[in-house]
Amino acid sequence: MFLQLFILLVVTSVCLYKRKTFEFGLSAVVTALLVMSIADQFSLVAWLVVALTSVSYFMPDLRRQYVSKPIYKIFQKIMPAMSETEQDALEAGDVWLDKDLFQGSPDWNKVLNIPKPELTAEETEFLNNETEQLCEMLDEWTINNEHDLPEDVWKFIKEKGFLGMIIPKKFGGKEFSAIAHSTIVNKISSRSTSAAVTVMVPNSLGPAELLMHYGTDEQKDQYLPGLASGKEIPCFALTGSANGSDAGAMTDFGIVKKGEYNGEEVLGIELTWEKRYITLAPVATVLGLAFKLYDPDKLIGVKEDIGITCALIPTDHPGVNTGDRHLPMNLAFMNGTTTGDKVFIPMEWIVGGQDYVGKGWRMLVELLSIGRSISLPAMGVSCGKFSYRYTGAYARIREQFNTQIGNFEGIEEALARIAGLTYRLEASRRMTCNAIDLGVKPSVISAIAKYHMTEMGRTVISDSMDIHGGRGLIAGERNYLIPAYQAIPVAITVEGANILTRNLMIFGQGAVRCHPWVLEEMLSVANPDKVAGLKQFDRAFFSHIGYSIGNFVRTFWLGLTGARFTRSPVNGETEMYYKQLTRMSSALAFVSDVAMLMIGGDLKRRERLSARLGDVLSHLYMATSVLKFYEDEGRQSDDLPYVHWNLQNGLNSMQVALREFMRNFTGNKWLASALYRIVFPWGESYSKASDKIDHAVVKPMLSNTQIRQRLTYPTFISKKADDATGRMEFAFNAVLLAADSELKLYRAIKKGEVENLKTIEERLADAVSKSVLSKKEAKLVQEAADARWDAIQVDSYPKEWFEQFSKQSDQREVA
Ligand SMILES: Cc1cc2nc3c(=O)[nH]c(=O)nc-3n(C[C@H](O)[C@H](O)[C@H](O)COP(=O)(O)OP(=O)(O)OC[C@H]3O[C@@H](n4cnc5c(N)ncnc54)[C@H](O)[C@@H]3O)c2cc1C
Repeated sequence: MFLQLFILLVVTSVCLYKRKTFEFGLSAVVTALLVMSIADQFSLVAWLVVALTSVSYFMPDLRRQYVSKPIYKIFQKIMPAMSETEQDALEAGDVWLDKDLFQGSPDWNKVLNIPKPELTAEETEFLNNETEQLCEMLDEWTINNEHDLPEDVWKFIKEKGFLGMIIPKKFGGKEFSAIAHSTIVNKISSRSTSAAVTVMVPNSLGPAELLMHYGTDEQKDQYLPGLASGKEIPCFALTGSANGSDAGAMTDFGIVKKGEYNGEEVLGIELTWEKRYITLAPVATVLGLAFKLYDPDKLIGVKEDIGITCALIPTDHPGVNTGDRHLPMNLAFMNGTTTGDKVFIPMEWIVGGQDYVGKGWRMLVELLSIGRSISLPAMGVSCGKFSYRYTGAYARIREQFNTQIGNFEGIEEALARIAGLTYRLEASRRMTCNAIDLGVKPSVISAIAKYHMTEMGRTVISDSMDIHGGRGLIAGERNYLIPAYQAIPVAITVEGANILTRNLMIFGQGAVRCHPWVLEEMLSVANPDKVAGLKQFDRAFFSHIGYSIGNFVRTFWLGLTGARFTRSPVNGETEMYYKQLTRMSSALAFVSDVAMLMIGGDLKRRERLSARLGDVLSHLYMATSVLKFYEDEGRQSDDLPYVHWNLQNGLNSMQVALREFMRNFTGNKWLASALYRIVFPWGESYSKASDKIDHAVVKPMLSNTQIRQRLTYPTFISKKADDATGRMEFAFNAVLLAADSELKLYRAIKKGEVENLKTIEERLADAVSKSVLSKKEAKLVQEAADARWDAIQVDSYPKEWFEQFSKQSDQREVA
């Protein structure tokens, strides 16, 4: 009997592991039992188990009545009610690779077959010409001191079409791909964060994007050509004093009314709003406004409380009040307030027209999944590439204790983070933009990209600051770090503040959107037709059970075998990583189901638990992006240390997140321990990248390597030796050029062949006179010494310079 039960278990497990259909599994089990019975190994218990399961499967009415119905009732009681805004947020946007990673069995061939993202010839030309020219015009120190972009820069941005990158060509826009859009923002950001934000906002969530997806033909014709040419400057106002993260708390409202417009009485809306933090508001000509709409007299339907609605309003419309400017982090991009009190607008100013009343929140969430995937992540990527290039250069030229600081192990640890994360940032950028260019509106992936890529930006900029020491802290023309350091918290706060994004959105949305059955279970409970609801529930619930048991089997087997026997789409050094990612993906699917079963709707409130599972999903996504990037780049050997760094650290982060989840999710020690042993039967196995790998990723940063060029593209590189970053580039090249001659001189001094005189000039003269160095070599060493000296200098200002500020404040007081 035991043998038959054992065979039953093994065959069932294999079918569940392979995710075979019920019919397939049943045929396999029956065949196995028949063979055993013929071989004189009959077991009544095993046959009974099969019979009962079959009856339950093939007689659905019976199953629904006696099994599903009571469970359905319990679910109706325990499932939290979904608000309309929550339902909109959950249903908006698409799932993509996140779904496969969440469900525990990623199809790696599908991942590797995603086309490599490329810029078109036109996009490349725009990047190399107009964007390069714009970067040359930007001087961040002056921009931030004068609190605005210079007039010629504004003109250039508008005339060259930077504000219309996403607008279709038929309206005069550039119609660039997501990857081009992101690459351009990345490049501008490497020169001026204020200019980057100025370009970013009209191309991200705002009037143009709203109109392209939801606008009426008249609205598109009215606004898109002007927005593409820069004649119209847009802003979008959602946030007010009462509502930041919680859009539903907004106090801005509109009442459906009749009023006068263009000398006629028309149906429209009387609006009252008070918005703050609105980027470009101080210079905007068209205001996108989100407000709650009410129809107390039921002039347009039966509902009084219609919901969040979006309208486009010319800022010169009577009653629109563009308020004062804010100074976010003391940066120069335009940001400020806008208010209005009982401002009447006609109905046709609603984005999409009257049919779209009350659909504002869904529209915004849907579009957020596009914009949020591109702009702010591009800023994070820019921090990485910029730091890789210039902090690497600084670590090469700055010497302390007669050694380049890049050679100190402590500095190497921080440089390794910059190097490794830059690779991860670029890989994630490409994967995410690819999704958009393939027509996906990735809601979960956009949250992953926004959160992790801005956080990685923060990490690398902080590391850069530490590595620069005092050189990074002194403000002035020479400092290229402070503006990025100031800007990164802005990227962290806007479009879904990061703490909220990590704790509430990534797993909160991911678990529902990516899970094959949970959304259906939730919808079945919310279904007003209870008979249809029960049918829907029955199907989802039993499929869910099969899916969960399958994940349990897969997780335990993959843990037990260290995923050795699972398939990888490639051979060689990266083969094992695909296998380990399959293992962690399966563990996430299994642990998520246990979490939902044990905690249910309360998981929404247990944010730190959700955040940890979200971390696993995010690291799976980023690690997958790294492997794909490595393949897309042609599996170059230079990239391998970066792949090892990212995969080892990524797997370690997943392990930590799972361990911490298990440690915290239940008061039941035994359950936590059982869960842990299922996922990690032999204990934890993923170590962080070693010091040796850290060394290997840092080495290419410190000289002029091909991977340095590749990874830092398209960072703006100034050709001027007296420019903030140009100076660093110049010194770096000079130091590299003189490296051999410097070494010769150093060795000769050590041996006593050249006198260790006080100045470099004297030492070089002695070396030349003793034929240790040629004149040409001495010249190289001298040039490197001069460039290095110049590059380590910081700004200082005479007291007269400060007097201009006291004069300005005196003038303000008088005025
Ligand atoms: C420079 C700048 C530019 C901006 N541009 C625009 C613009 O153009 N248009 C526009 O409409 N808005 C804009 N905003 C507003 C921005 O989107 C909001 O600042 C953001 O949504 C956060 O709102 P808040 O600042 O009120 O913070 P709050 O919502 O008060 O949040 C405070 C903290 O609480 C956290 N938090 C909130 N809820 C939760 C939760 N449930 N779980 C965990 N943590 C939570 C947040 O993550 C945050 O850390 C801009 C803001 C800034 C600073």
